[in-house]
Amino acid sequence: MKGTCVRMIILIFLALLCLPFSSNQAFAATKAKVKATTLNIREKPTTASKTVGKLPQGAAVTIQGQQKEWAKISYGKAQSGWVDSTYLTLEKAKPAAKTKTGYATVNSLNVRQGASGTSKSLGKISKGTPVTVYSQNGSWLKVTVPSKKWTGWIAKNYIAFSPIPAAKPAVPAAPVPAATFYVTVNSLNLRELPTTSSKVIQSLNKGTAVQLTEKKTGWGKVKIANGKTGWVSLTYLSAKTPVEPVKIPTDGKYITLTSDNDLLKGPGTDYEVIKIEAAGTRLEKMSVKADWMEVKTAAGVIGWVHSSYIAPYKDNTDKPSGGQALAGKVIVLDPGHGGKDPGTSGKATGALPGSLEEKATLEKTVNLQTVNAMAKTLQAAGATVILTRTTDEYLTLLQRVNVSHSQNADVFISVHYNAPGNKSTGIDTFFYPTHVNEQKLASYVHEELIKSTQMKNRGVKPGNFQVIRDNKKPALLLELGFLSNPDEAKLVKSEEYQQKVAQGVYQGLAKYFSL
Ligand SMILES: [Zn+2]
Repeated sequence: MKGTCVRMIILIFLALLCLPFSSNQAFAATKAKVKATTLNIREKPTTASKTVGKLPQGAAVTIQGQQKEWAKISYGKAQSGWVDSTYLTLEKAKPAAKTKTGYATVNSLNVRQGASGTSKSLGKISKGTPVTVYSQNGSWLKVTVPSKKWTGWIAKNYIAFSPIPAAKPAVPAAPVPAATFYVTVNSLNLRELPTTSSKVIQSLNKGTAVQLTEKKTGWGKVKIANGKTGWVSLTYLSAKTPVEPVKIPTDGKYITLTSDNDLLKGPGTDYEVIKIEAAGTRLEKMSVKADWMEVKTAAGVIGWVHSSYIAPYKDNTDKPSGGQALAGKVIVLDPGHGGKDPGTSGKATGALPGSLEEKATLEKTVNLQTVNAMAKTLQAAGATVILTRTTDEYLTLLQRVNVSHSQNADVFISVHYNAPGNKSTGIDTFFYPTHVNEQKLASYVHEELIKSTQMKNRGVKPGNFQVIRDNKKPALLLELGFLSNPDEAKLVKSEEYQQKVAQGVYQGLAKYFSL
């Protein structure tokens, strides 16, 4: 057995070696080096042909084709022609560049053409989407998105890395033993390739039996009764034999989802996903079409869900759904300062310079703590919360504004603490005066902050800060107390105080969004 194998491999190898001389493609675009001291480049693949140039020993050429022992090459930008391939050494293929797989940590994450928040977006990817990361440029990562075939840039703050796997050759799609599955929706597209941009071969009806032969990232290769093969989304296949379609609940104003599910733009699996709704979420019924229901979320987003994932909502009254007042909202929180910019500090607390205690009273540190507390509360209320920074790093004001734009924030809040004065006290809330609705947002949040913290009310004020002035989204800047006042510095550093701030901001936002 072994001997035969080795002989076979040698034969294949020899066959491959011979191939270049009989095929015009085998050497296509491979690199080679010149072995001879000098090598003539000829106009045609024959020694009788005119010499058009000479290659020095070691010259690196690109082989574009072959005829017999002649190789068509290009050298540098200008030179090309035919050389005797006997005098070429083929270069080994370079190992693939080291890449990492990253995962989007937020929904609606922009993939941009360039490494900048103002660069054109190629499109958005949803939370959890795997991307291949090649390189970094400042706070941007160069990536490809295999599922979309995009190559572009993503802000590194929104990419998480699983442990970096050793570079391995691509694993071919895993064949699976053929098994019968059933289509769970009407009009499921059978496509030529495992991507939604691929050609539709046929539309499959609900209940259609298919033979699943291969799986590839969310897609299954199937064979249908007429012998055709193609790819379908695995989401819409079930191993269970089809049962009667689920009856769409018609009583009451609301339904809920039995599992986390996509809200689609229209009544069919072909439509774009608007967002993913969690199981148990209360949704308002809008209309019904075949097996699909049009629903509205608490945040006013309208989309379609398949009836097989719908159940009646147990409490069909008009009360706002508890605890999810910020569902569907994107809140960008900006902890002011960071890195080389410490902001103001609580020097007056008497902490020794360079001590841990001093660091704990730097504005950048307290800002980040406060924002983390706010994020927890807002997330629990259903909001998607994005932080401009999560570590002690320096960001420009423009970078902060860019996060607000790229994440399509519903509200942006920059968090700061104030100085000077060792007796100064209280909270200010700033908005940019010409921005529509921003004063309303500011007064709701401010009012609730004062209520919740019982701090001195320094008022809602117009402010000319870049993070709110250049922000196209409703934006606030909060000054949540004076670090220059030793008593107040001690207070605002406490978890209890930051909790109260979080509650106040949440109440203010809930009020703003409910109107
Ligand atoms: Zn500040």
